[in-house]
Amino acid sequence: MKNIFILFFFFSISAFGQSHLRSEIDQKANEIESKVIEWRRDFHKYPELGNQEVRTAKIVADHLRSLGMEVTENVAVTGVVGVLKGGKPGPMVALRADMDALPVTERNDLPFKSVNTATYNGQETGVMHACGHDSHVAILMGVAEVMAGMKDELKGSVKFIFQPAEEGVFDADIFGAELMVKEGVMEDVDAIFGLHIWSQIEAGKIGYRSGPFMAAVDNLNVTISGTQAHGATPWSSVDPIVTASQAVMGLQTILSRNVNITENPAVVTIGAIHGGIRHNIIPEEVKMIGTIRTFGDEQQVLVHRRITEVITHIAESAGAKADVQIEKLYPSTVNPPELTQKITPSMIAAAGEENVIAMPPTTGAEDFSFFQREKPGFFIFLGGMKKGGDPLTTPSHHTPDFFIDESGFILGVRALSYFAVDYMEGLD
Ligand SMILES: [Zn+2]
Ligand SMILES: [Zn+2]
Repeated sequence: MKNIFILFFFFSISAFGQSHLRSEIDQKANEIESKVIEWRRDFHKYPELGNQEVRTAKIVADHLRSLGMEVTENVAVTGVVGVLKGGKPGPMVALRADMDALPVTERNDLPFKSVNTATYNGQETGVMHACGHDSHVAILMGVAEVMAGMKDELKGSVKFIFQPAEEGVFDADIFGAELMVKEGVMEDVDAIFGLHIWSQIEAGKIGYRSGPFMAAVDNLNVTISGTQAHGATPWSSVDPIVTASQAVMGLQTILSRNVNITENPAVVTIGAIHGGIRHNIIPEEVKMIGTIRTFGDEQQVLVHRRITEVITHIAESAGAKADVQIEKLYPSTVNPPELTQKITPSMIAAAGEENVIAMPPTTGAEDFSFFQREKPGFFIFLGGMKKGGDPLTTPSHHTPDFFIDESGFILGVRALSYFAVDYMEGLD
């Protein structure tokens, strides 16, 4: 008797309820699969850059309205939010898809290959859904239709968040998820779920991680100022090129000597160094830019502090001056362990236990983290690689050959729907 009680207690804290709607979701998801693929191909052919997702947003808004939802457009510039009110009282669960494409010229030979071009950073470029956000929009439109078909039975409401500008916007200070949060989109939300199609995971599988999943990303901007001189008389200079070289090497010790790598990884990369104009002139100034990836606030504070100290003190020791600016972009995408534990059975039910992969942290970043900072949020990777593919040779996200196997979409529709209805069931 005692054992039975313990077993019951264990389940009562480890999972949300299993909604009786799961089988109805499966059936409706099967019926809608070909429509989801069709939507995705249309978005793929006509991709739009961040904050310019006008065509995409209109298709989304029209679709949500046709399902009887209350729809708000132009949220955070081009975002769309639809609310599906369930027939029974309960929590507000948010589901999120990002809509923007990238300045990449597609090389895939597809009947629905991108036809769009744009000017980005002063350059003419192709535009491509090279991160797969076309699939996110189509999948969430599918979820909206599935859930609208059972709205009388829902114990709560679902907020469908179609977000612009996840990849950032060249000339804006704030964009995408952060702006949506600022505009209050999360205020009446109890929990949020989202996914990213992943070209290195086989279609039909889900990747996830409890705790820090994706990195915080910050930009590093450094200017080292010295004293200009003839290249033949370096003793009369304070050489910013030699100082910058020492600083780059000094930065390598932050990860090897300051960060506890048994807890979380971190990355400091210098992506560009600019200084000088001629063989025999030591310049006055060198500029460096780079990217910083960390997992968790404490680690981020440590890495930022050490970057500033290392560069500033190396410059001082050379008699130069360093200006170090760190621009925070996205916080780390962290799946709260408690929510992760409770939603894991829903994920397993959707994908099958053998198709759920516990992943290492990913040093890429996602602005879904801004939603997670407001309310508990859970984020997964949805397999988009063709079955039997090699993740090492499969083209990665943001490349002209990026390709998605559409057979995994139906799992995305089912997983997000399961998360919403199981969360609404609450605790057993
Ligand atoms: Zn991306
Ligand atoms: Zn992306």
